[in-house]
Amino acid sequence: MRDAIVVGAGPSGSYLSYSLSKMGYDVLNLEEHNEVGKPVECTGLVSERVFRYVRSRAKINSVSGAHIYFPNGEEIHVAKSEKTIVMERDVFDRDAAGQSIGAGTDLRLGSKVSRIKIGNDSVKVSFREDGNLKEEQCRVVIGADGVNSVVRKEVFNTRPGRIISTYQVDSSVRMEDQDSVDVYLGSESSMGFFGWATPSGDISRIGVGSYGQPFNYFRNVSRRFPGERILGINGGGIPITYLRRTYSDRCLLVGDAAGIVKPLTGGGIYTGIVSASHAARTLEKALESNSLSRSSLSSYQRRWKRDIGKELFFDGIIQRIFGHLSDRSLNKIYEVISDEKVIGTINSRGDIDYPSKVIIPLLLKNPGLIKHLFKVS
Ligand SMILES: Cc1cc2nc3c(=O)[nH]c(=O)nc-3n(C[C@H](O)[C@H](O)[C@H](O)COP(=O)(O)OP(=O)(O)OC[C@H]3O[C@@H](n4cnc5c(N)ncnc54)[C@H](O)[C@@H]3O)c2cc1C
Repeated sequence: MRDAIVVGAGPSGSYLSYSLSKMGYDVLNLEEHNEVGKPVECTGLVSERVFRYVRSRAKINSVSGAHIYFPNGEEIHVAKSEKTIVMERDVFDRDAAGQSIGAGTDLRLGSKVSRIKIGNDSVKVSFREDGNLKEEQCRVVIGADGVNSVVRKEVFNTRPGRIISTYQVDSSVRMEDQDSVDVYLGSESSMGFFGWATPSGDISRIGVGSYGQPFNYFRNVSRRFPGERILGINGGGIPITYLRRTYSDRCLLVGDAAGIVKPLTGGGIYTGIVSASHAARTLEKALESNSLSRSSLSSYQRRWKRDIGKELFFDGIIQRIFGHLSDRSLNKIYEVISDEKVIGTINSRGDIDYPSKVIIPLLLKNPGLIKHLFKVS
């Protein structure tokens, strides 16, 4: 019997498999696709922090700023000294899987998990491989299988409360400013989220996240790039609320499967890896002492919440408010934050992984913002 089966070889699953293998545990990592990292459903924007966990040569560009466009056509430009990395996501995922195999993980591709049966002493995992139904047993199973997690459906029978739909293209347009991303706010660009364009050298990644059907909004955003050729289309759901409970008997959920994603940006690579690191630390002790009951594994949730829970909770509230703002309110917010001093605060405190570091001082120093945030129409 395996010590652990990890379902999914995205960043969260590979980092968890790597960590457990390095501790000496026997880990099977099942991935439904025949190739790690494909299809790509990501913009590839991450902080440098991510590369402390995964040794990767996926970086292709870095940006230090953002042009934020408001519904009134005005723009503010914010910038910070630390760079945000633009990476090739498939290369990153392959590097993370390589790191995990190097530590001893048995990674099996083309293995789609369909059933999980939690027993008193073990877990039975059924999966389809080469057209055949197969079964493996383990002491603990971890769902790192993304937004549509089968492990979550089988064991927890629930789903994240809010899921953003996205539509993104790789475009032939080379953006003039290679040091800044574009962010498009307002009812033309999205319902409740935002549109974006990210410079990646000779191509750009242009997309929209939305509570409603994103394609119509995408058309409005892409009009800003006349003459572009679409080189590839991708997209998918982003879960922006975490589950109430991310542990069960002999089972944990990490990353997108648990909804552990930054609600304001939809970025989930860093938070997914952080959740995987806490899962590994919890399982290290639990496997050693054979304490794999729901109550023993509850410390996993306490660990990841202590680390990033407050940030995700706060960002979730701000996202909920932001998602309901009218164009008029957004334009009023522009009037407040286009001030040089306010932009200075954003520039000095901005952090892609911890937005509260800038939002809280902004609200405290500019009470006018609070009024506009709560004015819904
Ligand atoms: C358009 C778009 C742009 C994004 N841009 C960014 C960004 O710029 N920065 C950022 O940080 N985040 C971004 N995200 C979010 C980010 O992609 C996810 O948060 C991240 O991939 C989560 O990692 P994960 O390992 O938890 O899940 P995933 O990366 O989704 O990995 C899950 C893995 O499980 C496998 N799997 C699924 N079901 C099964 C099954 N039944 N059996 C076996 N294997 C299975 C999948 O094939 C996949 O390999 C973006 C998302 C989208 C949709």
